[in-house]
Amino acid sequence: MALQKRLERYSLGVMMAAASPTTSSSAAPATRLTDSHGRVIHDLRVSITDRCNYKCVYCRTGELGAQYAELGIGEYLRIIRLFVGLGIEKVRLTGGEPLLRHGLLELLQELARMRTLAGEPLDLALTTNGHLLESMAPQLKAAGLNRITVSMDAVDEPTFERITRIPGSFQTVLAGIRAARDAGLTPLKVNCVLLRGFNDGEIEGFAHFARRENVVVRFIEFMPLEEGRLWTPQIVVPLQEIVERIQRVLPLTSLPPREASETARRYTFADGVGEIGIIAPVSQAFCGACSRVRLTSDGKIRTCLFSQTEHDLYGRMRAGQSDAELSAFIAGTVQGKEARHHIGEPGFLKPSRSMVHIGG
Ligand code: SAM
Repeated sequence: MALQKRLERYSLGVMMAAASPTTSSSAAPATRLTDSHGRVIHDLRVSITDRCNYKCVYCRTGELGAQYAELGIGEYLRIIRLFVGLGIEKVRLTGGEPLLRHGLLELLQELARMRTLAGEPLDLALTTNGHLLESMAPQLKAAGLNRITVSMDAVDEPTFERITRIPGSFQTVLAGIRAARDAGLTPLKVNCVLLRGFNDGEIEGFAHFARRENVVVRFIEFMPLEEGRLWTPQIVVPLQEIVERIQRVLPLTSLPPREASETARRYTFADGVGEIGIIAPVSQAFCGACSRVRLTSDGKIRTCLFSQTEHDLYGRMRAGQSDAELSAFIAGTVQGKEARHHIGEPGFLKPSRSMVHIGG
């Protein structure tokens, strides 16, 4: 359905339902974010900058490329409040590197005051490379952050620093992980993107790391979202191979999903100590249960990581549209969310922005 039609269909309902999202309401909302495939969208990822202080080889070319605009903290807050008024319950701040963003703590403090349509606090999460985490972890916790995910692509120091291309980064990130855990930002997740020939030798080491450091390690299949041209089907280390490799050294037990939209297949070890998750968007896509939508740092809505179209919410805001009009635009846009991605299929097109500029 054309975007204009969707907008017309949804604008009336949303305008009538434009209750303040910061007030709890016992009545069922008139409009929640759903798409035309019957999925309910309750998870918003917001990139608050596309600047990053790392140059991970699988993500960035190492050249200083295009940088997209950043909105003011108050502008992100207005937009997030509109999304929350439409049923968003979980907000993840990302980037680029979100800890580089001036005003982050104020943003978190305000987000922690918002309430979902059910009157509950938001589930507030953040994804970081961990470089600035050691000093910031207690402040992030105090500002209201609930959970944090730290990206760490190797437990072997030289391998890690070959990937980040930042000398000294391994010890810095390790200290950040420990500080976040000590600050109570738990369960603490450590994400590792696996690439054959780069860091696939790290799988077993990460299994031990999860237990030793008391963190949840999640392996992520590499997706074609890099700035350069590295992705091939062969470079992806698939879920099955990861499970088999860990099983050989530490027997795994499968854990049941906690919710339908959970992206990770979860496992614990035979003695119940430690957790591993595998996110397999390539070999075992989970688009059918996707509950996510994204906002780029410059205020565009992306309904899928692999969207070919972005929807300029901030442009409408700057043009003076009312909250009700913006909510109608959001609802209509989300209706058109793509059914699934087409990684590996003939004719697959990479999106115009790479992961660091979309917000992972
Ligand atoms: N700077 C933060 C960080 O490092 O976590 C947040 C942004 S980063 C783009 C978010 C996550 O996306 C990281 O865990 C990163 O490893 C992951 N990522 C980047 N490129 C990816 C790709 N092509 N496929 C899968 N994950 C990717």
